[in-house]
Amino acid sequence: MGDRVALITGASIGIGEQFTRQLAARGYDVVLVARDVARLEALAKEIEAGGVSAEVLAADLTDAAQLATVEARARTVDLLVNNAGFGTFGPFHTLDIETELREINLNVMALVRLTHAAAAAMVERGSGGILNVSSLAGFQPGPSNATYGATKAFVTSFTEAVHEELRGTGVNVTALCPGFTHTDFQARANAPADEVPGFMWQEAPEVARAGLDGLEKNKAIVIPGAVNKVMGNLSAVTPHAITRRVGGAVLKRASH
Ligand code: NAP
Repeated sequence: MGDRVALITGASIGIGEQFTRQLAARGYDVVLVARDVARLEALAKEIEAGGVSAEVLAADLTDAAQLATVEARARTVDLLVNNAGFGTFGPFHTLDIETELREINLNVMALVRLTHAAAAAMVERGSGGILNVSSLAGFQPGPSNATYGATKAFVTSFTEAVHEELRGTGVNVTALCPGFTHTDFQARANAPADEVPGFMWQEAPEVARAGLDGLEKNKAIVIPGAVNKVMGNLSAVTPHAITRRVGGAVLKRASH
């Protein structure tokens, strides 16, 4: 058994699975949150064989009652990774509005609730860490990705602000802003990822590692990978009138 506990949302696959494996390797007991119980149980079993404890807390974080259960658990942990999220792709008016709202519920509302629950308890204890997974997609408006980009703009801004509020409390708060990462994410979002050149992609283990290392150093924002750093810094200094037009043109071409 480890002496510290980490709760990871979206632990079943992708970047979240990597956070879970790497935190266990760093000696944390882990609490695994996602909807797919079978995947969570298989991963927990594998992790427990490595000598730390792995608790499965299956939940749909867009369901208020299930989210409340996870909030209660988040109050007791040393480290929280808000990683669960999904995207949608296409002109906003053509997308299913209920799915768009669910996306806001998961990417924003659940993350805010869990951050609040964990932060209050961590500040009282004088230690802890919260890693919120955002995206480079939040650095500029994203035509064909409007809701997703807006949720991630929220996550980055919100996390940076809380990072500053908690300076000196012993609680680290970091936003991780990955670019294209090989996971199920693009397929689930119906996004035309085939057009994205190879050099722009990263693998989930390196993205998760960059996030955990950045949290340890209490960085406000972590952009993993050299290419992503250039893209992120360019977006940050370029007027939205330009980035939204370029982004719109690229995504329109990719979807034809
Ligand atoms: P992924 O492979 O699709 O994994 C998403 C995770 O979220 C899964 O574990 C999924 O598990 C969980 N999840 C989805 N809906 C949920 C719900 N309603 N309640 C609880 N858990 C839910 O995607 P990923 O690439 O690893 O994404 C992880 C994070 O990275 C997301 O926040 C995403 O926005 C961000 N990101 C990804 C990329 C990329 O290119 N891959 C780039 C930038 C940022 P279940 O289906 O079992 O619930």
